[in-house]
Amino acid sequence: MGHVIGVRAAGEALAVGVVEGDRVVGHVRRYPEEGGRSDSLIEMPAETFGELLRRQIEQAAAGADIEAVGIGMPGIILEGVIAESPNLQQLKGLNLRALLSGAFPSTAILILNDADALAAGIAATRGQLDKVTRVWTLGAGLGFGRYPRTEGIWEAGHCVVTLDPKERFCGCGGVGHLEGVLGHRAMRLRFLDMEPEEIFQHAVEGDERCRNFANLWHRALAGATASSIHLEAPGKFYITGPNSKFVETGLLHLYLHEMVKMSTLQGSYFEVIPTPDEIAIIGAAVNARVKPLAGRM
Ligand SMILES: [Zn+2]
Repeated sequence: MGHVIGVRAAGEALAVGVVEGDRVVGHVRRYPEEGGRSDSLIEMPAETFGELLRRQIEQAAAGADIEAVGIGMPGIILEGVIAESPNLQQLKGLNLRALLSGAFPSTAILILNDADALAAGIAATRGQLDKVTRVWTLGAGLGFGRYPRTEGIWEAGHCVVTLDPKERFCGCGGVGHLEGVLGHRAMRLRFLDMEPEEIFQHAVEGDERCRNFANLWHRALAGATASSIHLEAPGKFYITGPNSKFVETGLLHLYLHEMVKMSTLQGSYFEVIPTPDEIAIIGAAVNARVKPLAGRM
């Protein structure tokens, strides 16, 4: 049995680790290296990115055989191809799996959505791989992850939560999207005079405009969660990412209860949790180890 390697390629950084069971063994490799001189991923051409990834994986394996590699990245991944890449736009269209399969011909390679990797990592580290785990990631954009992975697109961050035609702040350009309310970039566009931290601080202090927005923000997240409950089932929803610090869990539960009334669908709740890189690395590796699903690889 060779190593199983998990990679998180989120934001503008890579984190790579060897995973055994539900934990990372040894240290997590990072790119750009702390204090080192590294090229920015933002400007890196797709081929160079693939080459960098290959080198990082090879170095993490340290000469051992590699049984499987899982790579979690933001965007839509279809059968190993990066179909949409909101942060590193130059990667759109890159067949990352084919590129890495060339370098590691006897290794199972899985490219998956970063939020799905997080969901699997949360499930694994909590000993809940037998349960459905759903997670919202609140950052520059909005992610929704699910474990076990299922077929489909699952871009729940872009689900429509308002019919107001003036709600057009989503990074994808779509009107009325969840990310258009909750996304970091969207909040900066809406409040040109304030950073998100200031908006929520003023909301707590009672500023009416900020309070109204903070309420809308929570209603939007509750609404998208209610949709997931009505489509799939009630359950536990984790919330993570840098902007999860703005979540008032009590308010979220209140709004959710207004939105979900059928008795069969009761019993959902939210938990805000930190997700260090290790969680995504473990989740990517956990998914790479299991038999790939048709349609969402
Ligand atoms: Zn959108």
